[in-house]
Amino acid sequence: MPDFNLDQRSEQAPSFYGGVISDHNSVPTSLSQPKENLVAAIALRIRQSLDLESILKQTVAEVRQFLQTDRVLIYRFEPDLSGVIAVESVRKPAQSVYGHKIEDPCFADKHLERYKQGRVHIINDVSTAELTPCYGEVLKNFGVRANLVVPIVASEELWGLLIAHHCDSPRQWQASEVELLKQLATQVGIAVQQAELYDRVKSLNSYLEQKVKQRTAKLQNSIKFETLTRKVTQKIRDSLDEPQILQTVTQEIGQILNIERCKIELYNGDRHHAEVVCEYTTTLPNCQGSIRQVADFPELDQQLLQKESLQFVEISELNPLNTQATRLVCPIFDDRGILGNLWLLRPKEQFFQSSEIMLVEQVANQCAIAIRQARLYQQSQIQVKELARLNFLKDDFLKTISHELRTPMSSIQLASETLEALLEKEMGDHRSATFTKVLNIFRSACHRQNQLVNDLLTLCYIDAEKELMTMQWIDLSVCLPQIVAPFKERINNQQQALIIDLESHLPRFKSDISTIKRTLAELLNNACKYTPSGETITVTASSTNNGIKLSVCNTGIEIPPLEQQRVFDKFYRIPNRDPWKFGGTGIGLALVKNLIQLLNGTIYLNSQPGKTIFTIELPCETTKDL
Ligand code: ATP
Ligand code: MG
Repeated sequence: MPDFNLDQRSEQAPSFYGGVISDHNSVPTSLSQPKENLVAAIALRIRQSLDLESILKQTVAEVRQFLQTDRVLIYRFEPDLSGVIAVESVRKPAQSVYGHKIEDPCFADKHLERYKQGRVHIINDVSTAELTPCYGEVLKNFGVRANLVVPIVASEELWGLLIAHHCDSPRQWQASEVELLKQLATQVGIAVQQAELYDRVKSLNSYLEQKVKQRTAKLQNSIKFETLTRKVTQKIRDSLDEPQILQTVTQEIGQILNIERCKIELYNGDRHHAEVVCEYTTTLPNCQGSIRQVADFPELDQQLLQKESLQFVEISELNPLNTQATRLVCPIFDDRGILGNLWLLRPKEQFFQSSEIMLVEQVANQCAIAIRQARLYQQSQIQVKELARLNFLKDDFLKTISHELRTPMSSIQLASETLEALLEKEMGDHRSATFTKVLNIFRSACHRQNQLVNDLLTLCYIDAEKELMTMQWIDLSVCLPQIVAPFKERINNQQQALIIDLESHLPRFKSDISTIKRTLAELLNNACKYTPSGETITVTASSTNNGIKLSVCNTGIEIPPLEQQRVFDKFYRIPNRDPWKFGGTGIGLALVKNLIQLLNGTIYLNSQPGKTIFTIELPCETTKDL
C-alpha cells in the first residue's frame, strides 16, 4: 500500500514552483503557497505526463500538504457504482484506508446525479451533521471528523471523488479550500480523460499493428500463391508432357503450402477406380501407382464427382502412429467432366485456410487444362503417325500402280499409232467421219493416260528427276512460241485471247529446258481449262536481279483465299470448277511445284476477283551476268 505520509518533511522548503513534481521528495510543503500555484503545477504535470497513477498520487499528496489535513484520497467508481479508494495520502496517526471497497446502495439514487452536476459535499463536524446511516458508518470507521468531497467528472461521466478528511478534530472548511479542491478535481478529470484517450489510442494502435501484420502475412501469401500459379501455368504452356507437368504441380504445392503429402490421382475411363499418378511427400511412405476403388468410398467420390472440394480429418492408415490427419481433396475437372483429384495432407491440427483451398482449386483447374492439352497432343501425334503411314502406303501404291500401268499404256499407245497408220494405208481418204472421230478420241485418251502415268511416276520419283536435268542456255524468244503453239487452236476454239508478253531483250538463262517446258505447259493447260470464253490468258517473262520470272495469268476466274494453298496439294481439285469439262486428277500443280523446287525456284499464286496469276521465280545464271 502506498504511503504518502509527508509529515516528517512538512517543514521543508517548498519546491514546486512551476516545476514537475516527479517523486515524493519534491512534493511542496508550504502552506503559504498560493493555491493558483498548486493548480498550475498540477495542470502542467497533466499536460506533460500520461501516467495517470503517478499524477493522482502526487495530486493527493500535494493537496493534503496544502490543506494540512489528515487524509486526502481519490475514490474511483466501478461500472456498477460501487467504488474503491484508489489513491490516498495520509498523515499519521490517521489510519490508511487505501484499497477499501465501498458499496453504498443509496449512492446511485441519492447522489449520483447531483455529483454529476458538480455538487460539493461539505461536513465541518461529522457529529452534528445529518447523515444517512450507511454513510455515517463509513465515516465513523475511517475516523473522520470533518469531510470535504468534490466530484471528478471525465467525459461527462462521474469518474470518482476527490475527498479530504480531517480526523483529529472538526474543521471549518474555507470557501477558498473548497474552490481549490473543485479546481483540482477538474484537472484530475482532464487527466483521466486524457489517460483514457491515450489508452484508446494505444489499443487502437496495437489493433492497427495487428491488422497490418495480418495484411502483410496475407500479402506474402498471395505473392507465394501467385508465384505458384504462374509457375504452373508457365509449365503447362511450355510442356505437353503430362506426367512432368503433374509432377511439377505436386512438388510446387507441397513446398509452398508446406504439407506432408500432395498427390494426384486420375480416374480410369469408366471411373471405377483412381490411380495415384504422381506424388510429393516429405515424410510418408510413397504411394505412387496405388489404386483406389471408387466403390469403397461412395460418399467421398459422390461429392468429388459433383466437382466439390472437401476437407476432413481422418485416421491415417498409412501413419504408423495412427494419428489423425487433415486432408483436402480438390477435383480436377473441366467442362467435359472430372479427370481425377488433387489430394493434400497435413497434421490434424493444421487446417487448410480458405485462401489455400482457393489456390489448390485454381491449380486443379490448370491441371485439367494440362491433362486435356497433353492428351489432345498425344492423340494428334498418333494421328500424324497414322497419316504418315497412310501417305507412305499411298505413295507406295501409286508407285506400284504407275509401274504396272506404264507398260500396257505404252503398248496401247503403240497399238493405236500402228492401227492408225494401217488404216491410213488401207483406207486413205475413204474413212468415215465417225470413224475418224472415234480414232481421235482413242488417240487423245491414250495420250492423256500416258501423260498421267508419266506425271505420277515423276511425282513418285521426284528426286530421281534431278539426276536427269541438264542445264543449258535457254532463249525464251525461241522456246516460248514452241511451248504455246499446241494450245493455240484450243484457245481459239474456246474464244479465249492469248497474249505473250516478253521483256524486250530478255536475257538467255541457264536451266533445264524440259522442266521449263513441262511446267509452262501445265500452267498453260490449266489456264485453258479454267478460263471462261471471252477472257484472256497472258504469258509473261522478265528478268530479275538474280534470274528469271515467268507467269501465266488468266482472267475471269478467282481462286478463293482458302483454296490457294491447297491447289498445290497432290490430288486436290477445287470442286465444281471445270467449265470446259476437261476433268483432271489434281496433280498438275503439285508436279509443277516439285519440279520448280528441284531448280531451287519458287511458285506462288495471286488471285483476286476476276484474275488468277501463277508466278515462277527462278534463280539462275543469265546472259546479263556475263
Ligand atoms: P490435272 O492437272 O491433274 O489434270 P487439275 O488441273 O484439276 O488436274 P491442278 O493442275 O493441280 O489439277 O490444279 C488444281 C486445281 O486448281 C484445279 O482443279 C483448279 O480448280 C485450280 N486451278 C489451277 N489452275 C487454275 C487457273 N489457271 N485458273 C483457275 N483455277 C485453276
Ligand atoms: Mg492441271
